[in-house]
Amino acid sequence: MLIDKFGRKIEYLRISVTDRCNLRCVYCMPEEGINELKHTDLLTFEEIVDFTKCAVSLGINKIRLTGGEPLVRKGIVGLVKMIADIDGIDDLAMTTNAILLKEFALPLKEAGLQRLNISLDTIDGKKFQQLSRRGNLQNVLEGIDLAMKCGFRKIKLNCVVQESRNEPNAVQVAKYAAERGLEIRFIRTMKLSTGEFWIVDGGKGGNCSICNRIRLSSNGKVLPCLFSDIGFSVKEFGGCEAIKMAVESKPLKGSLSKTHEFYNVGG
Ligand code: SF4
Repeated sequence: MLIDKFGRKIEYLRISVTDRCNLRCVYCMPEEGINELKHTDLLTFEEIVDFTKCAVSLGINKIRLTGGEPLVRKGIVGLVKMIADIDGIDDLAMTTNAILLKEFALPLKEAGLQRLNISLDTIDGKKFQQLSRRGNLQNVLEGIDLAMKCGFRKIKLNCVVQESRNEPNAVQVAKYAAERGLEIRFIRTMKLSTGEFWIVDGGKGGNCSICNRIRLSSNGKVLPCLFSDIGFSVKEFGGCEAIKMAVESKPLKGSLSKTHEFYNVGG
């Protein structure tokens, strides 16, 4: 069992499988894109699976795959299968922007994925274009409809807001969710470099007092906290050791990070 020095039980691992994305959301990525990691800097599937086995052996039982956008990582269904085959994982989930979900929903479910969180900030096509700078809302909505027929344990919507769920976009997405019996969470826009973050409305994220998570960045660092620059290289220390060091150095609460970006630590 992983318990940090503040008595918090750490049982949730968020794995960023890539820093790449097929969107350029205004609150996440610069329009011109990013200096993407070289493929050789990304952990291989075998390295991610070995690391996850370490994590599970130490007490982690909840895994979430994130990005960038996880569905742009080639062979992602195979990785889901490899992780789903690890004994001791009670909950295997993914956060996706659903642009490619029509193609992947059923293969992911068949590979063992249990839950989906889908990013949806607006159901207005024009506003979607403005916010994501790319992508087609229709693909997302059709992906959601298809995923709902695949029998996932749960599908939730993540709606990024400026300040609150009362904003026009959020109200429309909430209505869309209610009509489909989908849960929704409202995530206020956060700023890593200045340490601006809030508790997720409808979720547990951002509530440091009960934080139960660590992260694996897309370039193989174990991060005890999103809003901190502490990180331990899996390649340097080995998976299990890096996890133990991360839990031992987990701060009571987040402050800020000058080195992380949402697209390479998976939010
Ligand atoms: S800021 Fe850090 S400690 Fe707080 S909830 Fe996020 S990851 Fe946990």
